Amino acid sequence: MTTTIDLVSYEDALASYDPVMGLEVHVELGTKTKMFCGCSTELGAEPNSQTCPTCLGMPGSLPVVNATGVESAIRIGLALNCEIAEWCRFARKNYFYPDMPKNFQTSQYDEPIAFNGYLDVQLEDGETFRVEIERAHMEEDTGKSMHVGGATGRIHGASHSLLDYNRAGIPLIEIVTKPIEGAGERAPEVAKAYVRELREVIKALGVSEARMEMGQMRCDVNLSLRPHGREKFGTRSETKNVNSLRSVERAARFEIQRHAAVLNSGGTIIQETRHFHEDTGSTTSGRVKEEAEDYRYFPEPDLVPVAPTREWVEEIRSGLPELPLVRRNRLREEWGISGTEMQAILNAGALETIVATIDAGADAGSARKWWMGELARSANESGKTLDELAITPEQVARVSKLVSSGDLNDKLARQVIEGVLAGEGTPDEVVDKRGLKVVSDEGALTTAVEEAIAGNPGIADKIRGGKVAAAGALVGAVMKATRGQADAARVKELILEKLGVSEG
Ligand SMILES: [Zn+2]
Repeated sequence: MTTTIDLVSYEDALASYDPVMGLEVHVELGTKTKMFCGCSTELGAEPNSQTCPTCLGMPGSLPVVNATGVESAIRIGLALNCEIAEWCRFARKNYFYPDMPKNFQTSQYDEPIAFNGYLDVQLEDGETFRVEIERAHMEEDTGKSMHVGGATGRIHGASHSLLDYNRAGIPLIEIVTKPIEGAGERAPEVAKAYVRELREVIKALGVSEARMEMGQMRCDVNLSLRPHGREKFGTRSETKNVNSLRSVERAARFEIQRHAAVLNSGGTIIQETRHFHEDTGSTTSGRVKEEAEDYRYFPEPDLVPVAPTREWVEEIRSGLPELPLVRRNRLREEWGISGTEMQAILNAGALETIVATIDAGADAGSARKWWMGELARSANESGKTLDELAITPEQVARVSKLVSSGDLNDKLARQVIEGVLAGEGTPDEVVDKRGLKVVSDEGALTTAVEEAIAGNPGIADKIRGGKVAAAGALVGAVMKATRGQADAARVKELILEKLGVSEG
């Protein structure tokens, strides 16, 4: 059932209310085996081919905890500045769902492995916003239901449903923020920036590829409004399984407008889960939200408590890689760019390609210039991402070297890049095939200059008479004659020399 409501404009909503958000992100770990059994986690296998009595919840089967899963959870906790529990247990979260064969999910309840942390995230203008982390806990994924026979793939209208338990038992880490207050109109932007930063952290840690479009990372957006000046939180809605950065931002924005509309009309917000729809950017009602007590959590009797020694935790901490924000700040300083410039690089998805181009020998300035200029435009026009373009960081580095050695000027370099993108070969092959090299042969240049002077006697006279600015026309003539392959500054020098005029 969809009920349409007249949304309040975003500005009007913010004029009356403060948004408070809570973000719950599920990350599927990239472990080789499941969280509590030895079944493979590889994607794309035949349905139900990666199951065993444990992950199918058969009587008598016993779970064993995946040590790599625990280590990954600790790595995530440490990267999020959390405290790591000295002793914690798994719990059973009891509910029935067809794709959950045990009728409970093995999760953690009041004893999470990691708690009390924070993640600093960067907003579009380069400003930093601190998001506090309540907890990060270990759990397992459910299987998958497929509803067949209907038009939409949804259960409504389907003739039957199929179940695939390959995903049941894949390790998940759920990361829950504390209420995010004080972001005001930037709340949706903060939500997006948080999920993006978290994704970068997860990738840097190597614990998951965190590909949102593959469902390896998904975000539940909890949102409520409260009138300005009021302490008490309003009733929240929970928009489930939002699976792109853009959707996280849009879902938060839509819910702010919807809540304001309901509250302004004197209605009450129902605590419920909601679904986000990519096509319309709107959410619709799911089910009325259960309270924690409805799940009858109790400690899992079949698993031993997890008690990571302090030595192990410190060993893991010392093995953490440089974290994304720290790395970006370091690169920003090394490259001498501003926070907004770095943000633009991130938005363009260009950071890693630029780093790779510098690693391949280009200087930072030209690596940035090509990827953020010519190549970003080309990607934009062809609807591709930068790493889908038919040019590698090594090739861009080669072009940049040819420019710094004086073999190419910028104009020619653009043509070389164009040739590489068009599949004409490597930069050097394009240079050869198209005959693109700066004419640095003085003899050839001198001839071209003499011809230009002979062909434009009026202009030459003006220059002789002291109008040095008129030399531009002759430079243009030489550049045209050499198809842009001359060094313009050198051409100008030669012209003035020939005409016996000095620049000053
Ligand atoms: Zn299994």
